Amino acid sequence: MKGSWRLYLTLRVFPGIIIQAFFGLMPDIDKKTERGKAKMNEFECIRQETCSSQEPEMIYDVAIIGAGPGGIFSALELTQQAPELKIAVLEKGSALKGRRCPIDGEKIKSCIGCRSCSIMNGFGGAGAFSDGKYNITNEFGGTLYKYVGEEKAIELMEYVDEINCRMGGAPARLYANDDPVIYRKCLQNDLHLLKASVRHLGTDLNYVVLENLYAALKDRVDFFFNTGAESVSFEDGLYTVTADTGKVFRARRCILSTGRSGSKWMESVCRTLEIPTQSSRIDIGVRVEVPYETFSEMTDALYESKIVYRSKKYQDRIRTFCMNPHGVVVNENTNGIVTVNGHSYEDPALYTNNTNFALLVSNHFTEPFHESNQYGESIARLSNMLGGGVIVQRFGDLIRGQRSTQDRIESGFVKPTLQATPGDLSLVIPKRQLDDIIEMIYALDKVCPSTASDDTLLYGVEVKFYNMEVEVDSSLETCRKGLYVIGDCSGVTHSLSHASASGVHVAREILKQLEEEN
Ligand SMILES: Cc1cc2nc3c(=O)[nH]c(=O)nc-3n(C[C@H](O)[C@H](O)[C@H](O)COP(=O)(O)OP(=O)(O)OC[C@H]3O[C@@H](n4cnc5c(N)ncnc54)[C@H](O)[C@@H]3O)c2cc1C
Repeated sequence: MKGSWRLYLTLRVFPGIIIQAFFGLMPDIDKKTERGKAKMNEFECIRQETCSSQEPEMIYDVAIIGAGPGGIFSALELTQQAPELKIAVLEKGSALKGRRCPIDGEKIKSCIGCRSCSIMNGFGGAGAFSDGKYNITNEFGGTLYKYVGEEKAIELMEYVDEINCRMGGAPARLYANDDPVIYRKCLQNDLHLLKASVRHLGTDLNYVVLENLYAALKDRVDFFFNTGAESVSFEDGLYTVTADTGKVFRARRCILSTGRSGSKWMESVCRTLEIPTQSSRIDIGVRVEVPYETFSEMTDALYESKIVYRSKKYQDRIRTFCMNPHGVVVNENTNGIVTVNGHSYEDPALYTNNTNFALLVSNHFTEPFHESNQYGESIARLSNMLGGGVIVQRFGDLIRGQRSTQDRIESGFVKPTLQATPGDLSLVIPKRQLDDIIEMIYALDKVCPSTASDDTLLYGVEVKFYNMEVEVDSSLETCRKGLYVIGDCSGVTHSLSHASASGVHVAREILKQLEEEN
């Protein structure tokens, strides 16, 4: 203890002295006592003064907020085409290696609401532990094609796929879901199969690709992890980004790529900078879990099948989403609300006996309601309130109007891959959406018999939040010159390949503008 105070005094006199040495002795200060806290605050002041007086201000050519697929691919394209550019990437979460969800299934069984969620935040963004399904299509996953044109959107997605393959994704198979027999069978039952090519990296290979992307970037870009952008303003011809660490970044151009988890922050930036937005869509539904064999005819041939159904009763659009053969159902935390999602692995050693997929009902609101995300959050909160998180129910129990219990789940033939609370989804999901979901399960049963089995498991609630749509032009630039919004936070994309492609597109647009300026 005494030793550390001596060094502390030395630092007061010689503030430039190696701060690292002080860090090493930091645990000696009792941070819990008032005296300890005061010393900690004093230390922070010295540290900040020291840093700011020593560091000359760096003006970046481009500051990128968010290191998800959008941010990563914009940084990669910029550094590949113009290595001389000075680029900063600010990321609220950790570097890839530091991303660890504390849920271990033993000591910590459910979400404890970490300050920054390791599943959603950090290098790789929301996609880091995802199933890594890169769908190359304009039929779903976003509306990038509306901004850049259909052909170019596909070209950009193919370019992203090429890079992913170079970065270690090549062993993953590229599936084309255009099987004419399945397509016809679906059509005969009023189900519409959407066409796409999909590279399924799987969670494990996706991680390898991210490791390689980071290795390709780390010496060319200044990464600032655990650094959340708090505000963005425009002063003296530069974008000024103030981070929650107190650090201030200045850049000539700024790319916002904060994904779905940064949606609230994005809204506040648009309000402050008076960038027009609109919001009206939310998808609500359940995750369905069936034995692998129930869907194997479809998943063996197509892997990822996106099927759309229009309900007879309400004429609503319901779709399958994120199909995971041999996969697991997982929790997802969005802004503190626990919802459900699914993963699968490319490695056969990690296969389960089940397949899971989401059934989502699209809800489009009209005047005067604009808060579509709040509508979804309220429904998800209801399931969190009743079930303490995600609720699971057998399809048979739902149809009979009874809640599922632990005993009923255990006596079923489908073994759940997520520990969720047995309950009653009809107390959570509004009647209209629930009727739609039940109707589609019976429709799917005609194509994949036993989908409507009593033992089919339904997990709720799965919510697909859509970011409000930010008004951007064909360069994805806002009305503020030099400020771009890409990926899921723009409302333009909702998927890995569209978000990544938007990153490449914006980088190329910036490079074009730079060329024109010179
Ligand atoms: C469990 C799961 C599975 C999925 N599976 C698939 C799939 O198989 N296929 C598919 O196409 N899509 C999938 N998705 C969706 C896909 O991950 C996203 O569409 C994609 O990651 C969007 O990329 P993005 O760069 O726009 O945003 P994100 O990936 O969300 O990245 C945004 C980053 O910005 C950071 N950030 C947020 N706010 C701030 C701030 N204020 N300051 C600094 N940093 C900030 C976040 O920490 C995050 O790392 C999945 C999503 C989840 C959650």
